[in-house]
Amino acid sequence: MTDAAASDKSSTDLLPARMLNEFAYCPRLFYLEWVQGEWEDSADTIEGRYHHRRVDRPGGAAPMWAERSESDHPPPDGPDTESSRGEPQGDDADAGADSPIRARSVLLSAPRLRLIARIDLLEGEGLNVTPVDYKRGEVPDTPEQSWEPDRVLLCAQGLILRENGFSCHKGMLYYVASRRRVEVPFTPELEARTLELVQQALEVAEAGQIPPPLVDSPKCPRCSLVGICLPDETNLLKAGVPSLSGPGETTRSDEGSDHAGTEPEVRRLFPARSDAMPLYVQEQGAQVRRSGERVVVSIRGETRADVRVLDISQVCLIGNVQISAQALRDLAGRGIPICHFSYGGWFTALTTGLTNKNVELRCRQFETAANPQRSLELARRFVAAKILNSRVLLRRNHTDRPEEALDALARLAEEARAATSVESLLGIEGTAARIYFSHFKGMLKPPQTSAGELGFDFEGRNRRPPRDPVNALLSYAYSLLVKDFTVTLLAVGFDPYLGFYHRPKWGKPALALDMMEEFRPIIADSVVITVINNGEITRSDFVVGAGGTALTEPGRRRFIAAYERRLATLVRHPVFGYSVSYRRVFEVQARLLGRYLLGEIPEYPGFVTR
Ligand code: SF4
Repeated sequence: MTDAAASDKSSTDLLPARMLNEFAYCPRLFYLEWVQGEWEDSADTIEGRYHHRRVDRPGGAAPMWAERSESDHPPPDGPDTESSRGEPQGDDADAGADSPIRARSVLLSAPRLRLIARIDLLEGEGLNVTPVDYKRGEVPDTPEQSWEPDRVLLCAQGLILRENGFSCHKGMLYYVASRRRVEVPFTPELEARTLELVQQALEVAEAGQIPPPLVDSPKCPRCSLVGICLPDETNLLKAGVPSLSGPGETTRSDEGSDHAGTEPEVRRLFPARSDAMPLYVQEQGAQVRRSGERVVVSIRGETRADVRVLDISQVCLIGNVQISAQALRDLAGRGIPICHFSYGGWFTALTTGLTNKNVELRCRQFETAANPQRSLELARRFVAAKILNSRVLLRRNHTDRPEEALDALARLAEEARAATSVESLLGIEGTAARIYFSHFKGMLKPPQTSAGELGFDFEGRNRRPPRDPVNALLSYAYSLLVKDFTVTLLAVGFDPYLGFYHRPKWGKPALALDMMEEFRPIIADSVVITVINNGEITRSDFVVGAGGTALTEPGRRRFIAAYERRLATLVRHPVFGYSVSYRRVFEVQARLLGRYLLGEIPEYPGFVTR
């Protein structure tokens, strides 16, 4: 959220004119931003902020307060501008070559109308003023040469100015790309429409019910919150499309086009992969600092990495790695979490900024967690999806397809879906895990060593500490997965420590553990099988001691690279049919859980591949 937006949000009983613009564009967008406090930058919003940079800085001579037209409406605190007179130059000169600039970034309110606005540029003489609003793009090809949301925003500014005693009958839209102004007269029709929208927006906010997504709207592809809103996905799931596919049911896989063509098509309206990637720092004694718009990693004064902040999605510090307070504050403030790991690979702490304001979602999460029946419904879905995905992994990778085990897992997934208590679900999950891990060894086909040994063995799952290399890899992969779900859930607005299946326990991110269940086999176990079978990790990459078995530093580096490769793999979403990276899938699933908790979709759709 921009500083301006944040300061507007502080006056919660007054509707910022910028939010009226959002409401006119899409009521759901308004609700997501204003009521739920969601924000996501897109290329458009970043570019818009760049073009706005000059008018976002208060400046120019403040207009004198006009006489009140109504004595019961006291003036606001005063215009939030600098007192020096600004000279027209640069963008301002483009905006109004023959009008003296009066003030930039002027904050005014009109309590009677319940409106507040930060006006980009205010021009005029005496009591006659004109607000100017900056637009990033070109003059639109419409009869009015403007869009309705922008006209409404300007008109709201004009009404606020009038409430403050000024005379204001028109506004100006300045299109940066066209370097042109378009005049917007404040007609009685526009004024009535503006006031009507103010009323509607306030009613929607006060009703506390998120408006439904637009249907197949051309507005959505340009909407910066499309990845949060998930309009087409929500509409599809509201219609009750089967969401959890089992063996023999229609589903889609990440292995090309082996799916039936009957599934509904959903537009993928956000990029398949995020450009930003995690930055792992694991060299002991390394130092992380900020240098302008870059993050620099050095050791004993020698630079080892120099990365643009824009390209970083999270920073993972493993063991004894230092980070400067400035880098910590800057990264957290930009919504980039810093994940702290012990040398042995335990995910121990997380530093985040005050970035997510979606209290509504957390309230529903807490309500649902306190409801045993609703918690059980979700737990059944997590466990059933996990069992089905472990079955998929066995079926795809086992050298001698264990039909009996596959049948048993299919049956246990059905039982999980119908479990009547958490206790019985735990029993089902335990039985499925025993069957699955008893066949895990059959998926390992490591290349032979020069000594003619396969080098890896697996007699069953053990941990805390893991006693053999395969268990060490599994534990490390689960630790990375917990970290990624914790980060994702926090970004979406959840409390990762309160789950529906895993019970709250000190220091245990129970919701992250819930949500990662279905991804354990297809992400974590799959990476372990891949690095062993490809020979990327060999026996020499482990140190075995009394304290358990652990990866060496080079081995850990290669394993992390393989894990990140897996997350970047494009997968066909089993419900929506489009391809996205697994990392995006985590976010989509977390957001769908939110949609379910907020009552927008009837079921949480577990993620099951074929
Ligand atoms: S994606 Fe579409 S429905 Fe969702 S908020 Fe944006 S414009 Fe509205």
